[in-house]
Amino acid sequence: MRNTRDTQSLFELSRPGRRAARLPACDVPEREITDLLPADAVRQAPPELPELSEPQIIRHFVNLSTQNMSVDTHFYPLGSCTMKYNPKRNERAAAMPGFAELHPYQDESTLQGMLAILYEMQEMLQEISGLPACSLQPAAGAQGEFTALLVAAAYFQDLGETRTKILVPDNAHGTNPASAVMAGFEAVTVQTSAAGYVDMEDLAAKLDEQVAVLMITNPSTLGLFEPNMQQIAEQVHAVGGLVYLDGANMNAILGITQPGAFGVDMQHYNPHKTFSGPHGGGGPGAGPICVTEKLAPYLPAPIIVKELRVAKELRVASCESRERKESRVTSCESREQATAAHNPQLATRNSKLPYFRLDTNRPKSIGRVRAFFGNVGVLLRAYVYIRTHGPAGLRRVAENAVLNANYLLSRVQHILPVPQGNRCMHEFVASASELKRQQNISAMDLAKRLLDYGYHAPTVYFPLTVPEAMMIEPTESEGKETLDAFAETLFRITEESAELLHEAPHTTPVSRPDEVRAARQPVLVWNG
Ligand SMILES: *Cc1c(COP(=O)(O)O)cnc(C)c1O
Repeated sequence: MRNTRDTQSLFELSRPGRRAARLPACDVPEREITDLLPADAVRQAPPELPELSEPQIIRHFVNLSTQNMSVDTHFYPLGSCTMKYNPKRNERAAAMPGFAELHPYQDESTLQGMLAILYEMQEMLQEISGLPACSLQPAAGAQGEFTALLVAAAYFQDLGETRTKILVPDNAHGTNPASAVMAGFEAVTVQTSAAGYVDMEDLAAKLDEQVAVLMITNPSTLGLFEPNMQQIAEQVHAVGGLVYLDGANMNAILGITQPGAFGVDMQHYNPHKTFSGPHGGGGPGAGPICVTEKLAPYLPAPIIVKELRVAKELRVASCESRERKESRVTSCESREQATAAHNPQLATRNSKLPYFRLDTNRPKSIGRVRAFFGNVGVLLRAYVYIRTHGPAGLRRVAENAVLNANYLLSRVQHILPVPQGNRCMHEFVASASELKRQQNISAMDLAKRLLDYGYHAPTVYFPLTVPEAMMIEPTESEGKETLDAFAETLFRITEESAELLHEAPHTTPVSRPDEVRAARQPVLVWNG
């Protein structure tokens, strides 16, 4: 157990007058704040801020940062969430001043480097999905789902069709039915069979011309590739519906197959999962979507487009934006002519250069779903990851993700049976129901005890179709020793007494909080 002082709040540590920095004496005439600000903008009393020394502040935050688990400190096999290692080169690239210090209100002509990268990102995502159009705007996977469903709604409205239903298999992520309802549709559940695949009879019974979209996660959250995918897509298309892929599990199929090739009309990506962006406590995500040609006009605007412009036009445009910024009024066109007169080479050169433009003239677009261009910091990290690996490397990512998951499956299935079989894609769902019956040890007990041994717990009790579920995703970034040690630890835990496990974890700052209450009634303000 850690020293309790580590968990005291800054307000509890505060002592009047204590300071972390001393400001130099003021060397300009002092003015009353009320001379500078309107009366209603001036506080009546100073804010109640904690008063601390610099070492206290540093220790407080560094200690706090070690009280949680992270991919940098622990193995983190959290199924569905793809907690893979976040390469530090992504961070360095995203922090480069040329990116980090841009402002989204800057003139487009001064953002060409960033726009070029985002444009390439659109192209790479299109290539990976086999779908020809893309929007980088959505800020998370769930918002990507929602955005794509708005795109579908606009498409059907244009066709003059009113379709009200979205089909969602019962092992889908909770965000799928939630997005369907938020986009104004009715979410209809399709059963999956005991083997974990879409129940084709149930699908046939629910498919009709009221169905706008089937949302499918493939590979599924059970870590299975849907064997009837092509047939499912054909049947949805036969009633005029669209197929949406929840692309959270793209890390299993990168470079091996393209969703566009198995009948998908639209999909989102989770760059923070598939392409190694930090997420969860580590930062925000993104949820770019790719769609087929016929859906492209409805994508959120603006889209980044590439044009070829004559070099001279580019120089004039960048000159004009500079002049505007400096509030000077000169004719860039005439200056260009003057320069050209002195430099005959420039005058004759008619070479064309790429120019990246924000295309806002998209009359059928559903409009914006987020400010500016999306979460560019996350997209930049993903861009670096994709470029680092290249096409062959991305395929190896998928192969290793699948290899690691199968290796771990084969090591744990004798203690935690996997109801859906002995092969998987990038993750698998094991069940603790035998253990529960025989030894009164639940998935929750195992998950909690793993924390004591320095492992982040797998996802538990999801999907709901597997009793005492433990959804394990090792990711491709782990070595064999880590997987072996994890499997051995799981085994060791099953040999421990149920009493000990019911009280676990024993070594963490907080043991078993009331999780429902913590989620429903979080205490976000300090009111001591
Ligand atoms: C993570 C995940 C989502 C939601 O993505 P966010 O980026 O967290 O909004 C949707 N579906 C599946 C299968 C996921 O794993």
